[in-house]
Amino acid sequence: MTHLAATATTPPATTIATLPPLPLIIAALLLAALLWLLGYAAACAASPFARCHRCEGKGKTLKPNGHTRTWCRHCDATGLRLRWGRRLFNYLRRLYRDGSR
Ligand SMILES: [Zn+2]
Repeated sequence: MTHLAATATTPPATTIATLPPLPLIIAALLLAALLWLLGYAAACAASPFARCHRCEGKGKTLKPNGHTRTWCRHCDATGLRLRWGRRLFNYLRRLYRDGSR
């Protein structure tokens, strides 16, 4: 075993050297994205509707004067909106059905 003399040219330990290699980081990020996608797909299948953002699920919104409530036009006063994942699924299903006729 050789002992190297400590010199001024020895690079100091940086935080870059302690990180895992880049392919491992990319694989972990891809795995996390895949898990999130599976969870979101399950949520879209289980409950395709979510609460409306505009009226917070009440079906009515306040007018700018703060007193009068009007029907929410964003959700047609249902208080529900279709999740974008479910909207994408419906679009792709419709596209496939129309294409295979
Ligand atoms: Zn609404």
